[in-house]
Amino acid sequence: MSGTEQVGTAQRPVRVAVVGAGPAGFFLAEALLARESPQFCVDLFERLPTPFGLVRSGVAPDHQKMKSVTRVFEKTAQNQRFRFLGNVHVGRAVEAGELLQRYDQVVYAIGSSRDRRLGIPGEELAGCHAATAFVGWYNAHPDFADFPFDLKTPRAVVVGVGNVALDIARILLRSPAELAKTDIADHAMEALQTSQIREVVMLARRGPAQAAFFAGQLDEIERLASVSVCVEAKHLEDAGCSLEDLDANARRNLDLLRLLSQRPLTGSDRTLRLEFLSSPVEILGDADRRVRAVRVERTELVREAAGFAARGTGQFFELPAGLVFRSIGYLGEPVPGVPFDAKSGIIPNQEGRVIQGPGGPIVPRTYAVGWIRRGPTGVIGTNKADAALVAEKMVEDVPLLSRADGVEAPRAECPIEGLLEARGIRVASFADWLTIDSLEVALGHQHGKVREKFDSIEAMMNQLLRDSTPHEGV
Ligand code: NAP
Repeated sequence: MSGTEQVGTAQRPVRVAVVGAGPAGFFLAEALLARESPQFCVDLFERLPTPFGLVRSGVAPDHQKMKSVTRVFEKTAQNQRFRFLGNVHVGRAVEAGELLQRYDQVVYAIGSSRDRRLGIPGEELAGCHAATAFVGWYNAHPDFADFPFDLKTPRAVVVGVGNVALDIARILLRSPAELAKTDIADHAMEALQTSQIREVVMLARRGPAQAAFFAGQLDEIERLASVSVCVEAKHLEDAGCSLEDLDANARRNLDLLRLLSQRPLTGSDRTLRLEFLSSPVEILGDADRRVRAVRVERTELVREAAGFAARGTGQFFELPAGLVFRSIGYLGEPVPGVPFDAKSGIIPNQEGRVIQGPGGPIVPRTYAVGWIRRGPTGVIGTNKADAALVAEKMVEDVPLLSRADGVEAPRAECPIEGLLEARGIRVASFADWLTIDSLEVALGHQHGKVREKFDSIEAMMNQLLRDSTPHEGV
């Protein structure tokens, strides 16, 4: 690009690389492509051959309705100024700097794929897992298909009381027959059919008024015929503050929890037990270094400047369990060459513009959106507002791209397609995804399911290589 060239016109649109094809990446592409001036074209890079990020591999299989947002993303993918480049791992197959040499603006929408650790003894024992791994496993994510989840134990403990923790509890407890028609991974279905888990205990280090889940998600479990929800009334007595000080979600949660604590247990053979003011201090193992129990300390709430914190009371109890899941939030994964704040697990930024670090200078032409920008909070739709904000900043910065004395402009010797081809990378296009999609749906229908997912990148790519249909674009 010459320094004085007008960037953002129909003849010379702003070339944007978006890294990560989850909701944040797709909503950002949609926001940019919707603008008539300046005009953008978007290449959406994705490590997997499949798009949609957590909508495909995070949303639980029994929440199919939530996945219908992919129709919006499919519409974006039909735009002539949009390309999907799947099976391209940015940071490995292609470097961040190489994208900046080829695109006017580069946006990271890579989410938060790493799990937080508890930092207590015993976390390394067999049977103690990250929520990310279990969710990926039942959703046929290729990274987790071979994970050894042994469900032959009567009790599982889930640490944390967010919506992911409730997803895990629900999948473990609901009758497998109710999951049979979903897109749950075959290996998960088999394990659930022979599962011996009859009780899931969720540990909340703080009180019921601080629970992160939504009442509707707990109510969904309560309504399952196969599950009783058990909460001790004594834990609900003190919310730590007056009801008026609580937000609407906390009030709804408290109302539901009170109702559940007063209800006699139904005769169902599976139980979800919520233990508030309980913090794990050690995971205990047997002689084979397998989880056998969790040592838990009762806590109390203390008011601090930032809200209520949990403080140990010195009272302990042991909870026998063969499985432990830590579901205490996610962290982002750093991309080589892109600033990263290891403590909060995000790319440091000011309203999406990437900065070198807190208070540091802006990194030209580089942006972050979604969970990697703000941390793992909110629902799928939250990313739409997030994308709108970041798209606005990118639009504001477009004039910089045309300035002779402006920021360093992209100077690519060879286009991205040539670079990837030279490295032997077979890019999966959106047309390729549609091929995989129709195969998965057809296979699913043969087995009475909505979809039977491929659970390996190799299998998907081999299928595409075998497929004789010519694919358009890259
Ligand atoms: P989350 O909502 O942040 O919940 C994390 C939980 O872990 C909290 O209960 C937190 O308790 C607890 N925790 C954190 N550190 C802990 C520690 N060291 N020891 C014990 N407990 C600890 O995270 P999430 O469940 O992973 O969900 C991520 C996002 O996805 C959320 O915005 C969620 O709403 C969304 N999501 C939505 C749905 C849905 O809409 N159906 C489904 C899944 C996920 P404290 O509050 O005490 O820190």
